[in-house]
Amino acid sequence: MNIVEQTVPGYERVVWGTDDSIGYRGLVAIHSTRLGPAVGGTRFWQYNSGDEALTDALRLARGMTYKNALAELPFGGGKAIIIGDNRVRDREKIFRAHGRFINSLGGRYITGEDVGTSPSDMEYVRQETSYVGGLQDRSGDPSPRTARGVFRAMQAAANYRWGSDDLSGKTVAIQGCGHVGYFLAGELRQAGAKLVVADVDAERAQLTASEFDAQAVAPEEIYKIRADILAPCALGGVLNKSTVPQLEVEMVVGAANNQLLEPSDGNLLDQRHILYAPDYAANAGGVISGCCIEMLGWDLSRTLAKIDLVYGTLLRIFESSKQNRIPPHEAADQLAESILGGTQ
Ligand code: NAD
Repeated sequence: MNIVEQTVPGYERVVWGTDDSIGYRGLVAIHSTRLGPAVGGTRFWQYNSGDEALTDALRLARGMTYKNALAELPFGGGKAIIIGDNRVRDREKIFRAHGRFINSLGGRYITGEDVGTSPSDMEYVRQETSYVGGLQDRSGDPSPRTARGVFRAMQAAANYRWGSDDLSGKTVAIQGCGHVGYFLAGELRQAGAKLVVADVDAERAQLTASEFDAQAVAPEEIYKIRADILAPCALGGVLNKSTVPQLEVEMVVGAANNQLLEPSDGNLLDQRHILYAPDYAANAGGVISGCCIEMLGWDLSRTLAKIDLVYGTLLRIFESSKQNRIPPHEAADQLAESILGGTQ
């Protein structure tokens, strides 16, 4: 393995690892270990260039620092990337190489699954290093826990906006019926909410609709639905100059990472009086579950109680946004920075 360190201002370490003999090219960005070892998953993606992969890794690593800080976890933020086609068949070769690379960082970075990787991939990583979470026999699939945290964030937003946690009778439009969207639909249905769902995979949307008595609509329709809440649970960048003016909802609370294409899109939501639950505060349930169960050795009930605290975090963000006359996405950053002891 050829390991090359790159200096990037504002980041503790940025390291490239390559093993040409097996076609492995990886990258780890450690943004901050101020609160503890950096935690963040491995993304396996076919980037057009090394620079594009680096930009993504830097953005995601910094996001993990803020997410972990706001969730008051004793962990910092980092991210790993494997550049390549994530449909590769011989996964053992790639992920064992990745495990050796992670191990060379001596525990300053702990990895897990992310886009393009799965718990079974992490089993190969585990054969080479102990600095890995998201394993099948430990905390398992984080998605139901992420959905639970998003549900709690919705209750907080409902309380703040409407004076009650009660979501019964409210209409929620869910974009994306994948791992998180599906479980979120279940939580909301149980709470008596009415659901509208969309997915580019029509079969998935239909399945979720029939299971939870929801209305399925075409993917491009979801922005125009007259509803109480929009829950983006698909991709990032969905809140932008073209979509925000179309919205007919009172709040946006979802699981997708980096929902705002630009920070100014958060201001746009604010100007339209649409309450935005900052994504990294609302979607922390999965990382809380992984960190508490696998790294801190907590039991499930203590971990679930911590996920429920997402509710209080969101209320603090909304209150601070009101008091300081700033949009919630800025209030969340300020709160995270105060926990970290300064701008990161
Ligand atoms: P997933 O891949 O299982 O589901 C995403 C779904 O969105 C898929 O069904 C896909 O077909 C659909 N989709 C893609 N583009 C769409 C579009 N334009 N319109 C409608 N549907 C579309 O992913 P997931 O694990 O459910 O995660 C969803 C989002 O939440 C991602 O942004 C992820 O980064 C974020 N997130 C997930 C977790 C977790 O625990 N899984 C934790 C934190 C954040």
